[in-house]
Formats: sequence, structure tokens, C-alpha cells
Amino acid sequence: MGGAGASALAAAGALTLTGRRTDCDVCIIGSGFAGIPLAQRLVEQGLSTVVVEAGSRFASSFEYRTSGDFQYPVGAARMIAVGGTSGHWGGFTTRLMPDAFRMRSRFGDWVDWPVGYPELEPWYCEAEQFLDVTGSPSTDDGQPARSCAFPHVDDTSAAPFSLAHDARSLRFFRLPVSRRGGRPLRLADVEVPRFAASRGATFLEDRRVTDIVTRDGGSIDHVKLRSPWGFESTVSARTFIVAAGVFETPRLLLQSRSQWFPAGLGNGHGFVGRHFTYHPLFYATHIETAAAGAVPLGANRTHQLEDPLRLAHLNASNYQLIRRSSDARIDLYISPEVEPRLENGVDLDRHHLDPLGLATPQVRFSHSDRDRRSFEEAMAIGDRMQLDLGLKAALPYQRRIHSHPAGTCRMGFDAASGVVDRDLRVFGLDNLYVSGASVFPVAGTANPTATVVALTLRLADHLISRFHG
Ligand SMILES: Cc1cc2nc3c(=O)[nH]c(=O)nc-3n(C[C@H](O)[C@H](O)[C@H](O)COP(=O)(O)OP(=O)(O)OC[C@H]3O[C@@H](n4cnc5c(N)ncnc54)[C@H](O)[C@@H]3O)c2cc1C
Repeated sequence: MGGAGASALAAAGALTLTGRRTDCDVCIIGSGFAGIPLAQRLVEQGLSTVVVEAGSRFASSFEYRTSGDFQYPVGAARMIAVGGTSGHWGGFTTRLMPDAFRMRSRFGDWVDWPVGYPELEPWYCEAEQFLDVTGSPSTDDGQPARSCAFPHVDDTSAAPFSLAHDARSLRFFRLPVSRRGGRPLRLADVEVPRFAASRGATFLEDRRVTDIVTRDGGSIDHVKLRSPWGFESTVSARTFIVAAGVFETPRLLLQSRSQWFPAGLGNGHGFVGRHFTYHPLFYATHIETAAAGAVPLGANRTHQLEDPLRLAHLNASNYQLIRRSSDARIDLYISPEVEPRLENGVDLDRHHLDPLGLATPQVRFSHSDRDRRSFEEAMAIGDRMQLDLGLKAALPYQRRIHSHPAGTCRMGFDAASGVVDRDLRVFGLDNLYVSGASVFPVAGTANPTATVVALTLRLADHLISRFHG
């Protein structure tokens, strides 16, 4: 890869379409936040880029099965459609706190990311530009350190706000949000059409990748596609990115077996599909208190409570407060981390085939003792917050999941600790990469998408320097 002729296809006027075969520089599987920002940047740099999307303009679904003590609702946590789950997301764009990247070295738990916060920080700035984020102008409100201003600042809701938690005072910052035209950025509106109209770009919708085919034991040659009407085709590329979400990415790697990779691509150590994690959500709404006025009106306030919990070997937790109107009522949302454990994740159930004849994914998940203790402690802290807000007795919490699946193809320092390396390249394969929250080794206390976009823009820069030398 790289050097003379690397982008010859693009220079020659985009793509060679020969019957059922498409040739390009880069093939990206999936048109969500892990795929489209990357695709846009690559075509801007003259690389011919094909995005293959299984969904259409209307949301559809893939079959899956669940087992374990918690039936993870996969269908509610993703969208199979043009633009992926951007069609559903809420637009909250917190960054991970720096310690989430160094769990092993700082707290002796789980693993470190091979990439640290300071290294990723410039791409968080670019991600916030891409996502059109509005945030607080304050630089001393508990947010992780930043080298750029938010693309849009909201002065009206910048009022400082804190609650006492034991001896500490917890600062709540204004939750950054992606907003365009009054709603979170939806990739199908502008970004996908803009990419599809670019020179060197091809967008194939309603085409599902069913197999990633190796040329030899060290690189990928092409992917096989299937349309809903049974039409089969292939895309050949110099580089392939799997950006198919936390469940379908490991599924594709696992189902792409060959003589060189009998257990699936990148699965030499059995890590593909493993270490699945997510964010549960505990919430109490309409908390009526005379002290509600202490919470600034409008945007959600957030605090990522980490150190005191992690030092006690408990999972960190995100707290959000919102006062939606000038009456005396507030809502409290508590969202703890979940331990990334080898036993939780996606397997293929080869006894149950989907309508295309492919093995159905089986999502297996059980909480650990540490998870359960952490949830109790997170709610006990929430109770103290409610008392701090003037309630005589804390309201009980309802529970649902936050749609933040992560893990399943985690980043590692070597093949013995992960599926992809710090550049997101699958260990042992020269031209296969993974993008998306599936590469997160630890989910932390932030909503995932700002980190997903930061990582994919960093990947774009890595690929551009590989191609252009
Ligand atoms: C209700 C809801 C609210 C959310 N709110 C927030 C929030 O406020 N803040 C936040 O940070 N995150 C939020 N999220 C999570 C956020 O939506 C995801 O982190 C993000 O969209 C993931 O992007 P992705 O590109 O990795 O995956 P996806 O958007 O899921 O994209 C994967 C794409 O791959 C396609 N695909 C899958 N398999 C194949 C195949 N075999 N061949 C071809 N294409 C394939 C899919 O159709 C899909 O389009 C929310 C999620 C939900 C469901």
C-alpha cells in the first residue's frame, strides 16, 4: 500500500464497476458514525471509497438470540438503516475521562487502552466539529481538559452548580449535545448524500456483507455482498474497515472462516465477540423539591464520578440532573459502567440460521458481583444527592438500559490482549481494520459516540498517511 499509484483508481475518475465486482482503494462496511466520517475524509483525500450498508432508508432488523441473567435488547440498541443508529441516538456527546484509558495502571483493574486521552484529545475536537456540538464555555467545571472551544457555546446555561457528596463537592457541567436544526445529527439527512455525491465515492445501500475473503494468510482480497433479492456481488479493495456496530462486527469476523483462520478473522486468541459491556440506567423523575432551583434550568447537568468508586474497586458512574421547567421538579439519571468480562459477548449459533442461511448471533450476558455491588453503591450516592436537594426520603429508581453497547473487538497492546492494535488494525492482517465502540476496552462514564467519531477520524489520518506515504 502507499506510494505511486495508491490512489490511481480515484485519479482515473472514481471506480471500476465490472459486472458484479467493484474495485476501490477502501471499502467500509457500515454507514453509521464509525463509517461515514471516515469515508468522507478519505474521499476528500482522493481515495476511492465504497461504503456498503445493509440497511435501506427504512429501518429493518436482523435476527439474534440472547442468554444469561440479562437478556440484552439488541434490537433497541441499534438501527439497521442508512446512517445506522444515528437515526435514533440522543445526541449527548461527553468525552471519556482520562482515567478510563488507564484502568490497569492507575487502579489495578481490567486493562489500559493502548491509546491515552492526551493522544486522542485533538481528534475529540475534530469529532465535536463533525457532530456540531454545543457545550459550556467554562473550562473549570469538571470536564476533561480540552484544547479547543466547542463549535457552539451556550452561555445561558453556564451557571456553576455543585452538590455535596461526602466531603467532596461534585461539580456538574453542562452536558455537550450534537444539534442541527433542533435535533441530533442524523447522518442520512446530509452526510450520507454528501459522501455519495463526492468524486471517488460509491454508496451501496441494501447490500449486506456476508463474508470477508482472505487472499492469503495475511490480507483481505474482497468482501461478498448479498442484496435482499438474492443478488450477489463483490467489492475488492486495498483496505477494508468493518464498522458494522458492536454486534454485527464480531459476527462478520466470526463467520469469515478459512483454512488460515478456522475460528474466524482476528480470533486466534478467542477474543472476537468477547468483553461486551454496556450502560444500565437507573432513574427517578419528577423529584419535587423546594431546592430544585439549585439546578440550572434547561440542558442536562452531568458529573462523571470516578476516582472514589474506582479506588474502592467499584465501577464508576455517570450522574445527570435536569430541570425541564421552572416548576420545582427535577429528574436524576444514574448510569454506571459494567465490567468488561471475557465471558460476556457475541457467539454464532450455527444451529439457528437466519433467512440468508447465516448463523444467528447469540448475545450472552451476565452481571458480575462487582457490577451488582457497584449498582447498589451508585444508587446509594444518588439517594444522598436527593437528600442534598432537600428531599426527606429519596425516591426509588426505575431501571432500563442505556443504548450504549461496547466491547466485542477490543483494542489491545498485542494479539494476546486484544483483537485490534492501537491503529485499529486486526492483529495478523495487513489491510483489515475495525471502527466503532466494539474496540473500546473499557466503556467508562461517557456516552460512546464522541469517542467513536474521534477514533474513526484518527483512523482516517492513519490510512491517509499509509496510502500517501
Ligand atoms: C435510542 C438510542 C439513543 C442513543 N443516544 C446516544 C447519545 O445520546 N449519545 C451517544 O454518544 N450515543 C448514543 N447512542 C449510541 C449511538 O447511537 C452509537 O454509539 C452510534 O450510533 C454507533 O455508531 P456505529 O457506526 O458504530 O454503529 P451503527 O450506527 O449501528 O452502524 C452500523 C451500521 O452497519 C450496518 N451493518 C451491520 N451489519 C452489516 C453488514 N453485514 N453489511 C453491511 N452493513 C452492515 C448497519 O445497518 C448500520 O447502519 C444511542 C443509541 C440508541 C439506540
